[in-house]
Amino acid sequence: MLSDSHAHLASSAFADEVEEVLARAAAAGVSRVVAVGCDVASSRRSLELAERYPQVWATVGLHPTYVTEEPQEDWLEQLGAMAGHPRCVAVGETGLDFYHPAPEGWAWEDYVERQRACFAAQLALAAACGKNVVVHQRDRSGTACWEAIKGMVGPFQGRLRAVFHCWLHSWEEARPVVEQGHLISFTGIATYKNAAVVEACARQAAAGSFMLETDSPYLAPVPQRGKRNEPAFLRETAAHVARVRGVSVEALGAMTDAVAEGFFRFS
Ligand SMILES: [Zn+2]
Repeated sequence: MLSDSHAHLASSAFADEVEEVLARAAAAGVSRVVAVGCDVASSRRSLELAERYPQVWATVGLHPTYVTEEPQEDWLEQLGAMAGHPRCVAVGETGLDFYHPAPEGWAWEDYVERQRACFAAQLALAAACGKNVVVHQRDRSGTACWEAIKGMVGPFQGRLRAVFHCWLHSWEEARPVVEQGHLISFTGIATYKNAAVVEACARQAAAGSFMLETDSPYLAPVPQRGKRNEPAFLRETAAHVARVRGVSVEALGAMTDAVAEGFFRFS
């Protein structure tokens, strides 16, 4: 059994196809999917999917690249109201993104400040309602984004756990935060020929320190690279990570599944 710990099921890429997507996932052994919200509308839609399908759970959050686009001024109150839903298993996707340029009309400093404010608010929300957080980070070069994220998550030590999703750094970078109780997770990037650092990290990461995810509809693993990704393709990433770790897909699935259960507390 495998759990897709991060899929944008509410994305328009899946439109009215969610039922078929989930059926293909089940056929591939992916029996649980965490539908991740990026703004108020997709968070609400993710919760609706979680209400409709027993194998789906939801997160509610405002993604760092959406902070200037969210049309709902009371987004935080709305997320707060949704976070208490029994099928909501985490707050996020939130975090910082230093990769994409500031949107038109925004100075870079103001854009980053807005991202920080929204991230801080969601960390506080998660701590207040006893949920963990799904954290996005992306940098252009270097680790400024990662350093900023660590600095902001640090004060919440003991009150929440974070999963640093779509992990692209080394195991050396991950180990200190894993030792604080946080997690990393691997996408299909682990299967890419040009992602040796990620593959090495997937090989070295301690058992119990990571989850697997598709981040679908983005980042399809080899051999589907370039196509629309979907939860069923988690199988390819799992097969690759199992191979580099020298374990069976079943063993890897059981381990990462237990990690997902501990983090999201599915019920
Ligand atoms: Zn995502």
